[in-house]
Amino acid sequence: MLKGKTALITGSTSGIGLGLALALAQEGANVMLNGFGDVEAARAAVGHLGVEVDYHGADMSRPDEVVDLVRATEARFGGLDILVNNAGIQHVAPIQDFPPERWDAILAINLSSAFHTLRAALPGMLARNWGRVINIASVHGQVASVNKSAYVAAKHGLVGLTKVAALETATTGVTVNAICPGWVLTPLVQKQVDARAQADGVDGEEATRRLLGEKQPSLAFTTPDQLGALAVFLCSEAAKNVRGQAWGMDGGWTAQ
Ligand code: NAD
Repeated sequence: MLKGKTALITGSTSGIGLGLALALAQEGANVMLNGFGDVEAARAAVGHLGVEVDYHGADMSRPDEVVDLVRATEARFGGLDILVNNAGIQHVAPIQDFPPERWDAILAINLSSAFHTLRAALPGMLARNWGRVINIASVHGQVASVNKSAYVAAKHGLVGLTKVAALETATTGVTVNAICPGWVLTPLVQKQVDARAQADGVDGEEATRRLLGEKQPSLAFTTPDQLGALAVFLCSEAAKNVRGQAWGMDGGWTAQ
């Protein structure tokens, strides 16, 4: 379905980003990877699907590197058709203890980088009159939790940016949407499971049960594969009038 298209997925060396890269490659899209994880393993996994794959090490907290990532993708593959803004970090602390430099980093990586990629990628997409932008927000783009001020602010901002970009492209072949996952077991969440286990003096299994039990009624993690299938749908022709949505996949979290 996506043969001949090029997908750039930021933060795609692990977790959700890698799952999205694999799902888009499975449909035939060439892939530009980015992130600080195991580059060779990610490259091999995507390349195994028979598509062209490359890697760019842009730091998403640096606007000049973000723009260079988009330009390098266009130069390498002849255009950029599918932009997935996925890179993200987390820090958990009450506001009065929240380090200002962590606030700045989370806002830069989880929110501002998406503005910079969009700004750089939209002209090419509009010129070809086809494009798909998928912003990986979170349930925390729709509701809040304690101790996640920067993350919740950034993800709410990302949902807002998604809506504006969708309106500005509404009469074109470019669509812009957000996906809002609940808990997904990735390195980012494993740290929170470990912290919970330590704080409560319980093992990992019990900490996981408590974490899910608090917020996610399905009591099951959303998986990168499931998110990949949703991203593939958003890239399809059937989804061309899905615009400006913040699409949940959260086991019932925001239905409560
Ligand atoms: P992860 O830690 O596995 O992956 C994050 C990716 O971003 C990694 O590839 C990492 O190298 C990359 N990254 C971090 N800082 C970067 C930087 N400065 N420049 C470039 N790349 C950078 O985490 P994940 O859980 O897969 O998270 C992916 C996205 O999904 C994030 O935006 C996160 O907020 C969002 N999300 C995750 C969950 C969850 O439960 N795991 C839920 C909702 C939303």
